[in-house]
Amino acid sequence: MSAELLEDARRALDEASKFVDLSEDAVEQLKRPELSVKVSVPVRMDSGELTTFAGYRVRYNTAMGPGKGGIRYHSEVDIDHLQTLAFWMTFKCALMNLPYGGAKGGVQVDPKRLSRLELERLSRAYINKVADFIGPDRDIPAPDMYTNEIIMGWMADQFSTIKRSFVPGVITGKPVALGGSVLRDRATATGAYVVIDEMLRARERRPEDTTVAIQGFGNAGAELAEQLQNGGYQVVAVSDSKGAVYSAQGLDIKTLRDFKEKNSSDGVYHAYQLTDCEDKNFEQISNQELLTLDVDLLAPAALENQITEENAEEVRAEMIFEVANGPVTASASEILAGQGVEIVPGILVNAGGVTVSYFEWVQNRRGERWEESQVRERLDKKMRRAVSEVEEVAQKEDISLTTAAYVVALRRINATIEAHGTVDYYQS
Ligand code: NAD
Repeated sequence: MSAELLEDARRALDEASKFVDLSEDAVEQLKRPELSVKVSVPVRMDSGELTTFAGYRVRYNTAMGPGKGGIRYHSEVDIDHLQTLAFWMTFKCALMNLPYGGAKGGVQVDPKRLSRLELERLSRAYINKVADFIGPDRDIPAPDMYTNEIIMGWMADQFSTIKRSFVPGVITGKPVALGGSVLRDRATATGAYVVIDEMLRARERRPEDTTVAIQGFGNAGAELAEQLQNGGYQVVAVSDSKGAVYSAQGLDIKTLRDFKEKNSSDGVYHAYQLTDCEDKNFEQISNQELLTLDVDLLAPAALENQITEENAEEVRAEMIFEVANGPVTASASEILAGQGVEIVPGILVNAGGVTVSYFEWVQNRRGERWEESQVRERLDKKMRRAVSEVEEVAQKEDISLTTAAYVVALRRINATIEAHGTVDYYQS
């Protein structure tokens, strides 16, 4: 899977390159990551045994600023996979015009098998091993799948312990009490909502006439489901890894979220499955069925590679908003384009998370704490500007929204690389 993902990412870049006057230096620099490290992360388990996990950090490109990207805890994390995710972060930060490059990290672990104390020891041990590669001016991690604000809090604390000084700007997505930003926990969904809202308005569609299916009921998916329902959309299906729930009349998202909260295992992860919810005003369907429902909008908010050559022809949604990174493969995108399905790329749809992470870093560096209204207003403005830039390039060049998003990002990265000094600069 990792090799395919990287191949897809390169295809997106090749396509975008046709619309950018790229310098030779930019082509050369964007071919491979700047840094990929693998570390051994030893953890004393509750049993007294010492277990070693594989940890990674990848910095793809830092022309525009220090690396930025999440840390993932997953049993399938590997270096190729993280390189692709770091590549996407490079383009996402550039698209949002943030002063960052792209990075990503992770630990190969099934975190739900660890006790809370083992998880804390793992998180601190990971920071011990990567401390020389991260920092507020070097590379700034954040949460990703199966990591959250509790884990970011432990990591920030460990980094400050190593440096013997308070360094909140090393990590974003921290608890507010430790210098985190208000709204960071809802930022990805809030940004995705703005993108959906802007795009539908431009297409003269009304929320109340729009049905939505969302795959994934985690940090991003559950909050987006609730915001869409509050905005008047009919959210007819949502899912988690165990299955999906569907109601043609629209689901009661609040009840499903309350059920999830009540089944929080130890405050770090949730031990629940949506289909067990007592409120049975829904039908149970599979995750595959959710992806091919007859809805207006489909929002995959779980994993990569969910819509592939195998199921693309069965997709009936008119628009797909990629809340997850890379849920639609490049070959599936071609099939969907042929069917007239519009795909709005993850580097735009889910960019609210990294944008509020940037606001958190700015607050940490300035010693400020912004009100929610300030964060919300700035996020809204940045998201709307990015949507209009992407729509404008897509229309002007007559290309897909995905290629247009890469073009906007690539033009910025290229200009920065040229400003650093390129071969043309030295030869003239
Ligand atoms: P999360 O861990 O909070 O939630 C993931 C959800 O996906 C859970 O409901 C889980 O049950 C579900 N899931 C897992 N495997 C599944 C499967 N095979 N089929 C259906 N559902 C499955 O993660 P999150 O933070 O909500 O992130 C979701 C996606 O959004 C990821 O791809 C992540 O990289 C991306 N993203 C998240 C953020 C953020 O700030 N949270 C920012 C940018 C991108």
